[in-house]
Amino acid sequence: MKVAVIGSTGSVGRQALEVIDKNENLTLCALVANTNAELLSAQAKRFAPVYAELISRDGDCIKKALDLCDIALISTAGITALPYVIYAVENGKKVALANKESLVTGGRLINKALEKYGAFIRPVDSEHSAVFQCIKGEEKFVRSVILTASGGAFRDYTKEEIRLKRAEDALMHPTWSMGRKITVDSATLMNKTFEVIEAYYLFGKKPSVTLHRQSIVHSMVEFTDGSVKAQLAFPDMALPISYALTYPERKENVVKPLDFSEAIGLTFERVDKERFPCITLADRALENQSLSAVMNGADDVCVEAYLQGKIGFYDIFDVISQTLDIAELKRDEAHLEEESVEGVFARDLFGRKTAYGIIKKLN
Ligand code: MG
Repeated sequence: MKVAVIGSTGSVGRQALEVIDKNENLTLCALVANTNAELLSAQAKRFAPVYAELISRDGDCIKKALDLCDIALISTAGITALPYVIYAVENGKKVALANKESLVTGGRLINKALEKYGAFIRPVDSEHSAVFQCIKGEEKFVRSVILTASGGAFRDYTKEEIRLKRAEDALMHPTWSMGRKITVDSATLMNKTFEVIEAYYLFGKKPSVTLHRQSIVHSMVEFTDGSVKAQLAFPDMALPISYALTYPERKENVVKPLDFSEAIGLTFERVDKERFPCITLADRALENQSLSAVMNGADDVCVEAYLQGKIGFYDIFDVISQTLDIAELKRDEAHLEEESVEGVFARDLFGRKTAYGIIKKLN
């Protein structure tokens, strides 16, 4: 099977190349990266794909790469992935999706395309991969989906302590090593809010969230009879990447197995909405689904401002909430009713501009 990796120099992209390299049934046919020319050329040298290009040099390169493949691993960051996810589906390509923003902001559009072409997404996000694995063959008996959250860098601090935390503290995530944006999103639980929305579009149910410190249970599904299935594994993105690329098959020895001859403590705790108010934004975005793109743009701007030390931790929630309030007041200006990729982009831009304006007033 020929694989195109879109976003090959990011954290998931780099791990995907290792996964593909170790699997004789997968051939890397195309590499596309955003701006990291040095790493891309090193990857092209090592893996010798048919095609390798930088998005910054050639705007059509993603389509060219997708045309060459059987399955696309889409792991770029940001909503720019949305049209390419739809393009891949429309052109009969299997899609292994690591990009969150496309589903969060354009879930309805992606689902419409999937329905039209009788296709489905193979999720790469570890939580959604877990649900995907648990649900298989029993879709009609699902009662609810439970996403696990590691809790981010500040999970054990009081509200007063968190208030004073700065970006460099947030960048020390307890379990996963990821990019800067997603690590801050983990600390605020905004990442989990996005994952709740993602899960809604992937599985048709709004999931609940439980705090699970060990990151061993990657998520769970409850069935109509009260039974709960969970997917457990050593936390390593190689597993969800590999499963998305080989589904419905499984490659052997992808991750170090769990050792049940030793004690493994698994705990599940309530998520504290007081300390982590961003988790409540998922409800808002699913009640009025067009708000998710506004929220995405606003969060991007807030995270950047937080990384630059311009706003505090709880300002992130406040600025995003105010941005959503303004979008609901100015529905036309915020393009809330426009059901298209352009509409999604316009909503995201409205979120960015509005959040930026609010932050400017704070400083
Ligand atoms: Mg995740």
